[in-house]
Order: sequence, then structure tokens, then C-alpha cells
Amino acid sequence: MEVAGKNIPCNSVVGGNFEEVCPEKVIRFKPPLYKQRYQFVRDLVDRHEPKKVADLGCGDTKLLKLLKIYPCIQLLVGVDINEEKLHSNGHHLSPYLGEFVKPRDLDLTVTLYHGSVVERDSRLLGFDLITCIELIEHLNSDDLARFPEVVFGYLSPSMIVISTPNAEFNPLFPTVTLRDADHKFEWSRMEFQTWASRVANCYNYCVEFTGVYTTSYPSLQQEKVLKFVLVGELLIQVERLRLKHQRMLRDQEKELDPKPSDTDFSQASHLLLGEAFTEAEKARIENSPQPFCEGEKFCIPLRRLLAYPKLHRLCVAEERMRSLIADSVCLSNDGSAVVVDLHNSWDYWPEDN
Ligand code: SAM
Repeated sequence: MEVAGKNIPCNSVVGGNFEEVCPEKVIRFKPPLYKQRYQFVRDLVDRHEPKKVADLGCGDTKLLKLLKIYPCIQLLVGVDINEEKLHSNGHHLSPYLGEFVKPRDLDLTVTLYHGSVVERDSRLLGFDLITCIELIEHLNSDDLARFPEVVFGYLSPSMIVISTPNAEFNPLFPTVTLRDADHKFEWSRMEFQTWASRVANCYNYCVEFTGVYTTSYPSLQQEKVLKFVLVGELLIQVERLRLKHQRMLRDQEKELDPKPSDTDFSQASHLLLGEAFTEAEKARIENSPQPFCEGEKFCIPLRRLLAYPKLHRLCVAEERMRSLIADSVCLSNDGSAVVVDLHNSWDYWPEDN
């Protein structure tokens, strides 16, 4: 997919979809690629809030139906060479009853035009965004040669999104050269990028390319993820130390008054087991400041917590740890220790949380 834009940080166009052609094939995309293509456009609309949007080669107007709910859009136009498709789908674009009951703040006009994208049409001048989703591969070589001059040169919208199937997937299909009887060509990513870069360069657009399917995985490089994992691990360690301290107090009491205790700590035994440490880790822990009590409060210095391997792996500096956990746990006044109630484990969250 390519997004070409003028005077804005540019975006991109799509390549690589085949699930419609052969739905039973091994490789399936979730969500289906056509939804991802539409989502790509919706994200762009969210980001740039265009007022006037045209979808060229709009087909059964699915994308227009998704776009009409955007409050920023005031003019939505669909163009297709297939008049029958426009007639059979146009009525879906009329306002629903609910849209009369709860009207939009701003006007919206939706219009469908029968026509070819390679004919200059002055009604499409001055648009903020023009989309051409799975269109260009339906153009014969003469029309494809005229397309840039009409769309980029004449219509010249602020942003253009073009998507086309990625031919690199074709070998996965049995005996097809083209995936659709009406396709005039199918390009590899390189062919598409060469064409789009030349066109963008010629008409002064900047261009970016993307596949429709992109996902990013959580990693400790992401502050939100790091914070989540760190706070979770820290709470486990704090709870271990709290239980250990309680047990020590209990043992001291028993020595003074050797009656059987009615407090059952067996449910916390998994926490008390703790981790197995190497000699170096043990030394680091032993050399760090000890947890201590202030009245009924149990305080664990951050430097102590940082000494434990699982926490040390996530964060090595006290200041960094403090800033990551500050809004999730109670800290001492000087911020050097996590503070919890010695007898109540449900007090980890700061009061205003
Ligand atoms: N954009 C829609 C979508 O993503 O669902 C429909 C894509 S469909 C594969 C291609 C559409 O382009 C068809 O509806 C076809 O009629 C239209 N088309 C083909 N050549 C065209 C042309 N020269 N001008 C306008 N529309 C054209």
C-alpha cells in the first residue's frame, strides 16, 4: 500500500492480499485483508481529519459506508466505472432513522458518480483525501499511463492512498497467473514501489509504502510494558519479604510464649519458597539495605528490591525504578522505599488510585 501526500508527513499504499481469491488457502489473515485495508484508511482519517474524501473505484461502496460516520468528513464521493454496482449499493448510503434522531454536528453530503478515474472530472477537485483501493490493477496500460496525470496532476488532493495486490504471493495459488479475470497486471512490491515513487516524484508528492498487515509485539523496550512487568514482579517480591518478616516476628513470639499459633501461612508457602540465587546474587542481596518496620508499616528499600535478580534484570537504577513504580505503589516520603502495611497485603496502591 502506498500513501502519497502533499504538505503533510506522508503515509503509504498496500500490497499483498489474496484471501478473497482463494479463501480456503493455507494462509489466512485475521482480520481479513480487505478489513485491514479499510482500517488503514480509517486510521488515516482519524489522524488527519479530512473534510472532503473521494473513493475512486468504490465498487460496492463498503469503504464509503465506513467513512460516513466520521464527523470531520463533510463531503464523501464515490466514483466507479460500473454503473450497476453504484445503483445496487447507493441506497445503503442514505441516512438511517437514528441519524435523524441524533443528527451530526456538521453537514455531510454523500455522492456517487459514474465515471472513469482516468477522465478529468472537475467535481473531484480540491479534495483532502482520495483513496484507490484495489483499483489500479483493473486499468489497462493506456489507462494506467493516464491515471497519474489525472489523479496526481489534475485532481491533486492533499493525500492519496493506493492499494494493489502483491504478486509475490501468486506462486501460492494453483495455476493462476492473475488472481482476478479483470486484473490487467499484478505487481511485486518492487514494481509497485518503482511505479509509485516515480509518480510521486513527478507530481511532487512524498510517498511511503506499507503492507496492510503490521503488528508490533510487547517488549521491555516499551515503557508501558516494562512498568507493568516491573510492578508485578515488585509486588511479588514485596509480598515475599512481608511474609518472611511476619514469620520471623511469629517465631520470636513463639520463643517467648511457645503456644501453637492460629495463623496459617501455608497458603503463602509458594511465595516463601522464593528463588534460588547464585553466590554473587546472594552477596548482592545481603549487601543491600535491609527491610525495616516503622510502627505497623513495613518498608523495603528500593536498593534492596533492585538487588533481586528478576527485578535487577528489568531495571538497574534506583531513580529509574522510582519513576516507573511511583504511581502504582506507596513510597516512603523520601521515595527511597516501598511502604506496605505489615499485616494487610491489600494496601499497595497509593491512596488516590
Ligand atoms: N475499492 C473497492 C474495494 O476495495 O472494495 C472495489 C475494488 S474492485 C476490486 C475494483 C473496482 O474498480 C470495481 O468496482 C471496478 O468497477 C472499478 N474500476 C475499474 N476500472 C475503473 C475505472 N477506470 N474507473 C473507475 N472505476 C473503475
